[in-house]
Amino acid sequence: MTDSLKAENDNITNKIMIAIDGPSASGKGTVARGLAEYFDFSHLDTGLLYRAVGFKSYELDPSFGNDAIPIRVAENFDPSWLNNNALRGDDASAMASKVAAIPAVRTALLDFQRQFATHPPLEGAVLDGRDIGTVICPKAPVKLYVTASAEVRAERRYIELTQHRNIDTSYDKVLADLRARDDRDMNRTEAPLKPAEDSVLLDTSKMSIDDAIAKAIELTNDALASDNRRFVCV
Ligand code: C5P
Repeated sequence: MTDSLKAENDNITNKIMIAIDGPSASGKGTVARGLAEYFDFSHLDTGLLYRAVGFKSYELDPSFGNDAIPIRVAENFDPSWLNNNALRGDDASAMASKVAAIPAVRTALLDFQRQFATHPPLEGAVLDGRDIGTVICPKAPVKLYVTASAEVRAERRYIELTQHRNIDTSYDKVLADLRARDDRDMNRTEAPLKPAEDSVLLDTSKMSIDDAIAKAIELTNDALASDNRRFVCV
């Protein structure tokens, strides 16, 4: 098989792809996990990839002064890095959004994400991130853009940090950090966070977790009802 035919074949799959994008604390991770559990699909939290690359890069160069370091780290990405609890913290998220703005880092992580989307261990894949519906799988049959107001997202994050992780902070600081990260993610030149044109908006500002997951299941079933279950990613 020629390389181009093989690439084309790799891109066609009978597995179902669900692309979920949205800003931090919008509920997209919870919705993605809820969908994966409901449909019995594999889930990839793509933010973790950037967190892992950011974290490793920081260990090598805390100043983030040399793009060559995160690029080399991303080119040598190893999925075993994802099992690191430190990646869940706010420090890792700030490191992630720095390395995520480097185009060559994104390119290096592209194949891993597409491979997961088209060949997940289970019958379908749910990927959540910032550019899944726009760059990673622009032809995914299901695309949701999960969002909520900045104030609601900051409130959720504040409760998580102070009540569940015992971190001393203020609501105002959390809101300012969240706005700064939104700004970096939405205004970077490479793969900025934005809804794909054909995505369905899910605003969770006034929804409980259960309501948001139930709505996402309904939207997914609606989107799949018209498809023939043979899909392409790009
Ligand atoms: O989703 P999470 O908060 O873990 O993502 C951390 C950071 O990684 C984001 O702020 C964003 O800069 C970056 N990211 C990205 N593209 C993705 C997922 C995450 O740029 N698909």
